[in-house]
Amino acid sequence: MKVKVIAACVAALGTLASTIPATAAEHVVAIRAGKLVDVVAGKVLSDQVILVSGERITAVGPAASISIPRDAEQVDLSGATVLPGMIDAHVHLTGDPNLHGYKSLGVSDIRAAMYGVHAARLTLDAGFTTVRNVGASGFGDVALRDAINEGEIAGPRMRVAGYAIGIRGGHCDNNLLPADFHYTENGVADGPWQARAKVREMAKYGADTIKICASGGVLSKGDEAGAQQLTLEEMQAIVQEAHKLGRKVAAHAHGASSIHDAIVAGVDSVEHASLIDDEGIRLAREKGTYIVMDIYNDDYILQEGAKAGMLPESLEKEKIVGQLQRDNFRKAFRGGVRMAFGTDAGVYPHGDNARQFYYMVKYGMTPMQAIQAATINGAELLGWKDRVGSITAGKYADLVAVAGDPLADVSELTRVKFVMKGGAVVKPVQPATAR
Ligand SMILES: [Zn+2]
Repeated sequence: MKVKVIAACVAALGTLASTIPATAAEHVVAIRAGKLVDVVAGKVLSDQVILVSGERITAVGPAASISIPRDAEQVDLSGATVLPGMIDAHVHLTGDPNLHGYKSLGVSDIRAAMYGVHAARLTLDAGFTTVRNVGASGFGDVALRDAINEGEIAGPRMRVAGYAIGIRGGHCDNNLLPADFHYTENGVADGPWQARAKVREMAKYGADTIKICASGGVLSKGDEAGAQQLTLEEMQAIVQEAHKLGRKVAAHAHGASSIHDAIVAGVDSVEHASLIDDEGIRLAREKGTYIVMDIYNDDYILQEGAKAGMLPESLEKEKIVGQLQRDNFRKAFRGGVRMAFGTDAGVYPHGDNARQFYYMVKYGMTPMQAIQAATINGAELLGWKDRVGSITAGKYADLVAVAGDPLADVSELTRVKFVMKGGAVVKPVQPATAR
């Protein structure tokens, strides 16, 4: 019965829509860009105009060659540098950076989702118009994504994973409580068929991405960051099932063997990759696997972690992998692997995502390469190259502007002055750009 009613409504809408010309109701905006970062060509263009109709970019080119419709709203960014909205491929919006370790146990899934509403706004205002949320309890990330898509709250476009899938007692389990409490995290799976069932369960409840824990981690209790957790057999089952259901797989993996097996199993990205070795670099390059290395948050963990409730063992683990990860970032990038920008926001405060650019440049990328990692590469990793990641006609009008030159000083991206998402201004021009 219910299905029939919905079908009737959709049919009625269809009739209505067909009587209105598609563009009649769409708001047209013309944006003048003093400088525009063309991440596809890897060039900076001067004096450009971007035309936006509704949610999408309809034209982009030199100001002299674009005719601006008379009724268009004008946005003057002629004193600024305009870039595509940025993409962070590794965030936890429902994670409060002040509540780690035992402090996290008092937070309900609903409370975490409400915190996520706050974090989504901070992330959007920082210029990140798309994120991939790799792990959340209670499907809080699914709820956030859907509320943002419905226009109920402000936030970035989201890819979401639901619960991360991993072994009993591993990084994706919760090992803080003693056996008396009989607590097991919902993403725990032992064996290929349990793992396969978990993929199906995540997909059932709204995950459009699958996150797995191939190795131990820094912030989990009782495991070693470098030690492998899921077996090759388990990861093969997960990847096969996820790909069959049209979902990409992101594998948390610090240790060399876990990285090898994750890549061989066919994951789409390796997260952290702290201890990646030459063989891992070769495998990633050959299979085209993206590597997402969160090389900013080490500073935050070591400076603020104890206060935020991180366990002493976590701080010890960070001291071991932190610098190695940065050195291996340089090695992997020089080794020709594809890299996307991902920060693990939630471990550190949301909205500080762009702080990582400085380290990506310090450890071997040019500013343009770091920007590409956070735009066009991220879009490809998320399977959204047709909709985000560059200022191209046909894509969503997701744009940011900064006052200075991010190609000269990439830290300029921590001072985003203007944000547009889907043609709507979500952060109006801040005084510094209105020169
Ligand atoms: Zn993470």
